[in-house]
Amino acid sequence: MNQKVIDMLNQGRERELLAVQQYLAQHYELADQMYGKLADRMKKIGIQEMKHAEAFAERILFLGGVPANKPNVPAKRGLSIPEMLDASIQLEDEAVQMYNANARKCEAEGDFVSMHLFEDLAGQEEGHLDEFQNTKDFVDKLGAPYLATLTGGPGD
Ligand code: FE
Ligand code: FE
Repeated sequence: MNQKVIDMLNQGRERELLAVQQYLAQHYELADQMYGKLADRMKKIGIQEMKHAEAFAERILFLGGVPANKPNVPAKRGLSIPEMLDASIQLEDEAVQMYNANARKCEAEGDFVSMHLFEDLAGQEEGHLDEFQNTKDFVDKLGAPYLATLTGGPGD
């Protein structure tokens, strides 16, 4: 049992659980304001983060550790759309950096399976980061006409 690797995997799992809480909160807040299209994106990304949290838990259990069951900081609530996007960009940016660093540290520990998990998830978080940054750029450059394209009710 390599406690260093288990701790790194749990650090990742806490990030994922935070992302799940933050994005699903954004989903229902946006849905409530009838920003249905952006709400749908946040729900889909939140579900991807759940799968990431599960992947970390499975690896932690395989290595004989105990998966963390909650984030280490509270999710941000009640933000404006630009604030939501900034918070999400920050979360993804930090995840990419942490997962790349942890991949290298797992390699140094001789655990290539955990290394590959961090590499795989770093790539997926780069995709999320790119989407949030592009969305934020549209909001900044185009403003209200762009925000209007993100509206919609349930089932639209
Ligand atoms: Fe993730
Ligand atoms: Fe992500």
